[in-house]
Amino acid sequence: MASGRVVSRGRTGLGDEDDTLQFETSDGIVVVPAFDKMGLREELVRGIYAYGFEKPSAIQQRAMRPIIQQRDVIAQAQSGTGKTATFSIAALQTIDVQLRETQVLILSPTRELASQIQKVVLALGDYMSIQCHCCIGGTNIGEDIRKLDYGQHIVSGTPGRVFDMIKRRNLRTRSIKMLILDEADEMLDKGFKEQIYDVYRYLPPGTQVVLVSATLPKDVLTMTNKFMTDPLRIMVKRDELTLEGIKQFFVSVEREEWKFDTLCDLYDTLTITQAVIFCNTKRKVDWLTEKMRDANFTVASMHGDMPQKERDEIMKEFRGGASRVLITTDVWARGIDVQQVSLVINYDLPNNRELYIHRIGRSGRYGRKGVAINFVKSDDIRILRDIEQYYSTQIDEMPMNVADLI
Ligand code: ADP
Repeated sequence: MASGRVVSRGRTGLGDEDDTLQFETSDGIVVVPAFDKMGLREELVRGIYAYGFEKPSAIQQRAMRPIIQQRDVIAQAQSGTGKTATFSIAALQTIDVQLRETQVLILSPTRELASQIQKVVLALGDYMSIQCHCCIGGTNIGEDIRKLDYGQHIVSGTPGRVFDMIKRRNLRTRSIKMLILDEADEMLDKGFKEQIYDVYRYLPPGTQVVLVSATLPKDVLTMTNKFMTDPLRIMVKRDELTLEGIKQFFVSVEREEWKFDTLCDLYDTLTITQAVIFCNTKRKVDWLTEKMRDANFTVASMHGDMPQKERDEIMKEFRGGASRVLITTDVWARGIDVQQVSLVINYDLPNNRELYIHRIGRSGRYGRKGVAINFVKSDDIRILRDIEQYYSTQIDEMPMNVADLI
């Protein structure tokens, strides 16, 4: 039996254990293996089943209950195993629908992720008459104000716009009882930390805090005592983070210039389903996109310097399958869920170990098959070996028949 800290007893973290009955781990974490045994409101259970979920995943079986019981919770599980639904369902269970004020605030690092979470909340809460607003930069402020003034039970947003709305008093915080930080390690990293504290200071004392991510390095965990009370930690072991279903390969390119030809050679493989190609800078995304188009390949591209309208349009086309190959930056590394993505290419290796796990986790969603291919120059091999060792995983040279694995 696993200890309470290790949520993933099955191989996939998808709750594929045999148990059908509730049980308790040795660390006192209660495992509830069915949605209708969780004491959720009837309309919510209906929404969950209507959304197509049958059985809760490992993290859902373990983390939902303590969140609903108002514990501060730190939840870590692999990419694509249902963390978003974990906190969305818990949030929906917690709100008082009669009270049309913001009661749950969910913060995420990118606008696309905040918007995706809003849609999941609305879908799961379809039978609950709930208001959930997506409060992000790059959108019309007047519209934001109007929606917030109307009253929103749940707000999913990015820190900048949310803070702006709080300061203007359009987002009233007095009824907020839960703060959820998705991709918590990034939210508490240098770029966002101050903004998160700014928001936090406006929340009522004793607001419940929930942190969620696939990666939670030690330094993040140690700072949580500043704003969390006796948090319950539900975590997977590091070497269970790379999903069984995602096969990882590398291609040696020796020189940067060779990457482009390698990518062109792989193009047919990319379009078997859908693929995401990661570069480390926006400029490189633009450059590669142009070069691919010049060579007559159809590609879409997205990064944070594009106007939000254009970003929305590109997301819509990619989600709908109208575009199949997306070249992007780490704006896409975390959280975005497009089930058809089965191939991820690291045109450049990511700048840290966490990003690696998040990037490859864009494929292989909820136990589906996935393939990650890393382009490595001679001096990159060291970095790749480090990643391999850190996650106790295997990254082999790409085989000729890689298309068969997708
Ligand atoms: P994470 O946040 O852990 O990366 P998501 O919450 O985005 O993962 O879930 C990944 C995919 O799995 C989504 O497409 C979601 O709809 C699906 N999913 C989540 N929970 C379940 C479940 N219990 N049963 C079936 N599919 C699920």
